[in-house]
Order: sequence, then C-alpha cells, then structure tokens
Amino acid sequence: MVPIPTPGLPYVGLLTDHEWSLVILLFGPPGSGKGTQGRMIIEWLQPQIPSISTGEILRAEIAAGTPLGLETKSIIASGGLVGDEIINRIVRHRISQPDCARGFMLDGYPRTLGQAEFLDEELAAKGMSEPVVVHLDVPAEVLISRIICRRQCRDCGAMFNILSRRPHIRGRCDECSGILIVRYDDREEVIRERLRAYEAQTQPVLAHYYNGFYCHIPGDRSPVYIFEAITHFLEPFAIAHAGGGKVSGS
Ligand code: AMP
Repeated sequence: MVPIPTPGLPYVGLLTDHEWSLVILLFGPPGSGKGTQGRMIIEWLQPQIPSISTGEILRAEIAAGTPLGLETKSIIASGGLVGDEIINRIVRHRISQPDCARGFMLDGYPRTLGQAEFLDEELAAKGMSEPVVVHLDVPAEVLISRIICRRQCRDCGAMFNILSRRPHIRGRCDECSGILIVRYDDREEVIRERLRAYEAQTQPVLAHYYNGFYCHIPGDRSPVYIFEAITHFLEPFAIAHAGGGKVSGS
C-alpha cells in the first residue's frame, strides 16, 4: 500500500512519487448529521472526489425498475442487508469509473466485515491509499430525542422539528398548510430498533479500522464544531491529495 501521512505528525517526507488517492469512509447512525457533514467535506476538498452512497445507488436501481432493483427491493423494504456479493459488485463497478481515479468517499459501505475485506483487496489491487475513516458517534438518547421531534408535512413532505425548526402555525406546514405528522420510522420504538441494528452491524466493521487512519468524532455538538473536528483530522490527507501525492516544501 502507498505510505500515507499520520494526522498530527509532519507529513513532509512520508510521500514520495506515489500517486496519492484519498479514500474516505464515513460512518454515522441515522440522525447523526452524516449527510450534511458528507456534503460539507466534499465541498471543502480540492480537487473534489465523488461521494458514493450504496443506499442511493440501490434506490435509483429500484426507481428505474432494473433487474438489480427488482432483486433488492424487498430486502431494502424490510430493512435487511443486501448480500455482500451484490453490493461488492456494485462498489467495484462504481469505483472503477474515471472520476474515482484520485479517490472517493463511501457512505453506507462497508457494512460487514466481508465488505471491508473486499474493499481492502480492491484498493490494494488498484494501488490506492489505505482508507481514512471518519466515525460520527452520537449517543442513542441524543439521536432519539432529535428524531422524535421531527415532523413531516403529509402533503408536500417538508421537514420541521418542534425544537429546532418549528412551523409558524402549530401542526401546519409553512409551505402548503398541510398537516404535520410523525413519520412511521421516526417513532421511538422503530428508531431504537434501527439504532440497535446499526450498532450490531457497524461495531465489527469499525473495529477492522481501529489500527488504521481512524477518527472518532463526538457528534452531539453543533454542525460547525463537528466539521471543524473532521477537517482537523482530514487536513494532512487533504494536503497530500491536493498535491497529487508529491512532496512539496520542506
Ligand atoms: P442506506 O441509505 O445507506 O441506509 O441504505 C438503505 C438500504 O440499502 C439498507 O437498509 C440496505 O438494505 C441497503 N444497503 C445499502 N448499503 C448497503 C451495504 N453496504 N450492504 C448491504 N446492504 C446495503
């Protein structure tokens, strides 16, 4: 694997003539703000890298009615995991596209140890750098209280939050005056189940990366603070990425 810099340590001299690639794995439970942080990371990086969400790819396949979509629809609807073989094939195809040559960010993958090992092999075969893991960690109770305060317009789908984004008229949508409801999957017992499943799936995968370039970020703070912590960790990698893998300066 290509040698890469250690966060907090001077990176100069660690890289030579290797092509640098930046592979970011973003982990975070539902409601952790992972989507927002992911978008901010991509905007911050220069040159930019594509953000790849396996969940989004699958949803697009379902919407397009492809054989893959038909095959995976019922698994996704039941909240289960799509088999490693299918998901690994999707990822292998996507990361072989030209826009991934200098790196990419993965959201929602890997979700099993088998997927993590597959990714290791793919990166090694491509001569790409070891992944950099950002783990947004938010206590379950904080997530639950955030999510149960969400309200959605029954008619237009607009989202509100009775703590942080209140509608102007209680129970009514600001956009279309529709009735605000609690989404089925935002109910406390459903959230607890989703969080339990997330923990059970994710812990062994995270453990696979503990000895690598791994950063645990407490996610129960403001988005600005979280982004600051993420960029602090990513900075040496981003500098190497921007320099195209060449050492510059002394
Ligand atoms: P997400 O939007 O990441 O929560 O993914 C939505 C659904 O797609 C999941 O509940 C799984 O059914 C499926 N899925 C997405 N990524 C993976 C993965 N890496 N492994 C297995 N199933 C996945």
